[in-house]
Amino acid sequence: MNDKYERLQEALLEAGIDTLAIRAGQQRTAEGEHSEPIFTTSSYVFDNAAQAAARFANEEPGNVYSRYTNPTVRTFEQRIAAMEGAEAAVATSTGMAAILSTCMALLQSGDHVICSRSVFGTTTVLFNKFLAKFGVEVSFVSPVNADEWTQALQKNTRLFFLETPSNPLSEVADIAALAAIAKANNCLLVVDNCFCTPALQKPLQLGADIVVHSATKYLDGQGRCMGGVVVGAVEHMDEVLGFLRSCGPTMSPFNAWVFLKGLETLRLRMDAHSSNALELALWLEQQAGIDVVHYAGLSSHPQHQLAARQQRAFGGVLSFQLSGDRKAAWRFIDATVLCSLTANLGDVKTTIVHPATTTHGRLSDEQRAVAGISDNLIRVAVGLEDIADLKRDMQRGLDAV
Ligand SMILES: *Cc1c(COP(=O)(O)O)cnc(C)c1O
Repeated sequence: MNDKYERLQEALLEAGIDTLAIRAGQQRTAEGEHSEPIFTTSSYVFDNAAQAAARFANEEPGNVYSRYTNPTVRTFEQRIAAMEGAEAAVATSTGMAAILSTCMALLQSGDHVICSRSVFGTTTVLFNKFLAKFGVEVSFVSPVNADEWTQALQKNTRLFFLETPSNPLSEVADIAALAAIAKANNCLLVVDNCFCTPALQKPLQLGADIVVHSATKYLDGQGRCMGGVVVGAVEHMDEVLGFLRSCGPTMSPFNAWVFLKGLETLRLRMDAHSSNALELALWLEQQAGIDVVHYAGLSSHPQHQLAARQQRAFGGVLSFQLSGDRKAAWRFIDATVLCSLTANLGDVKTTIVHPATTTHGRLSDEQRAVAGISDNLIRVAVGLEDIADLKRDMQRGLDAV
């Protein structure tokens, strides 16, 4: 550490998100490397026995074992924490591991959770199937109706969980309103900020306590690596790190390095995803054969005003309902050539998927009906290809219906 490093940390306190995305968290080694190094080491060497004892007892800062600290992972954690405006972050092996670690660290048997019913399908399974086994009760409510959250409150409610905008219908939850209800009832508000990223939305500034991410999506941005991260106050992140240390869903240093490179261009990519998605949504809305387009950037969207207030742009994911049935949706998907047929999203490559039979296939018919996942629904995660080519690809789909 030198004088310039200290002055840089001071400058970063007032820096914008692009500067933080490129500079925060980096601490050069004595080699003077410009790009962040990848520390592929499982453990660390101590100078002497006394130091080893102090490190193990948490009496002295420093690395012990890469299950819970690694310099490359730490750089990623500090960078994303700075971008979200948080005290600290804990990186995990996947986005689901981030959600699991948050719940395992902050909940106990007998606690009750209120969760948006429009969350990532696997998040629903995690609550219903696995956390339920350990005595954590969950109620699912509408993300767009704050009254339902108040009505679902119980004496043992500890945590609110939501994702906004939602996947695949782009429902937008009012983070500040739900944060106020959570706070008044001594509950923590956890927001899955995967679809917006801190480049478009900062839930902590709106009153949320914790942000979780699937880094697999936009933070990487090029579909290369699995990862997740939990962001929030040191008080809560210490608990999450404690879970990681004992239970092991750790991010690999190589993946952390890929995510660091992804973060550097995050704001630029999110703006480009958003402008491509908006243009495609406007175009789709005008085509015969499409009943409705779900995208918060459209003025026809029921929470358009809220999204415009809460987000800096509307993100890259949209969905639409064809005038037709499941077969029509499959014909549309199979006729596209540019779009990758894959469940992933947040990639420079545009992806297309039929939610009812893939991402939401494990839900019961009734759960799907409540969540609004109809058979004629198609989700497109708009990438960064030329917009004219994307429109041509959607036209191929429409022609095949
Ligand atoms: C993909 C995703 C997850 C899970 O992340 P993984 O990295 O696949 O485990 C959680 N939440 C949202 C909103 C997602 O899109």
